[in-house]
Amino acid sequence: MKLAVLSDIHGNREALEAVLAEAERRRAEGYVCLGDIVGYGPDPVYCLERVRNLGAITVQGNHDAAAGGAAEVDTFVPNAREAILWTQSRLDREARGYLASLPLCRTLGWLALVHASLESPGAWHYILDLEEASRCFDLMEVPACLIGHSHSPCLFRLSPGDDLSGGLWKRLAIVDGVSYIVNPGSVGQPRDGDARASFALLDTEAKTFELVRVPYDIESCQRKILAAGLPEFLAARLGEGR
Ligand code: ZN
Repeated sequence: MKLAVLSDIHGNREALEAVLAEAERRRAEGYVCLGDIVGYGPDPVYCLERVRNLGAITVQGNHDAAAGGAAEVDTFVPNAREAILWTQSRLDREARGYLASLPLCRTLGWLALVHASLESPGAWHYILDLEEASRCFDLMEVPACLIGHSHSPCLFRLSPGDDLSGGLWKRLAIVDGVSYIVNPGSVGQPRDGDARASFALLDTEAKTFELVRVPYDIESCQRKILAAGLPEFLAARLGEGR
């Protein structure tokens, strides 16, 4: 089965639609969402409904938890906090309840799904280096773990003999005996210096992944951010992919 793996959509309707059109063009048959459907962006209601209507297999992100009222907003930096409070004001009780009730982790065949890390998933640790990846590998019971949260595509590998490596990726074919942590980057707020939306295509039978970048109408999303009275920085960063 061909799955599109989406993460960190962050209320960016234009990026989400561009990614879904590309996923459809590539004949994706199902969807995985690694969390942070809302927060930062101007279209949280639309994005949440769209992801729910896709029947995406979804885990909870830190922004989802906070917007749903299941986590404190005080732990967020000011720009993020302001956007979460704005997002809360747009979502109805049912939508907030849905976000609050999303699971932190799920298992899908040979895949573990989590927004941040299997190490205390609700503590939202970033996996940015080998040491942080190692703590996640220690808790993995399946060959691959799909994560988001950092908004930058990356791949960590644990090969026999405790040989741990990590870095950027474009294509991946799973090798028996090796464990993987795969981050598909962010749909709605990429931070790796490439402003295009990012997602991954996964073939669950061939056990292959491909990273896909998709241009989208950034200016339209930026205009909506400013019109909503959200922090200007949130619009500016989309143009720079940071
Ligand atoms: Zn995020």
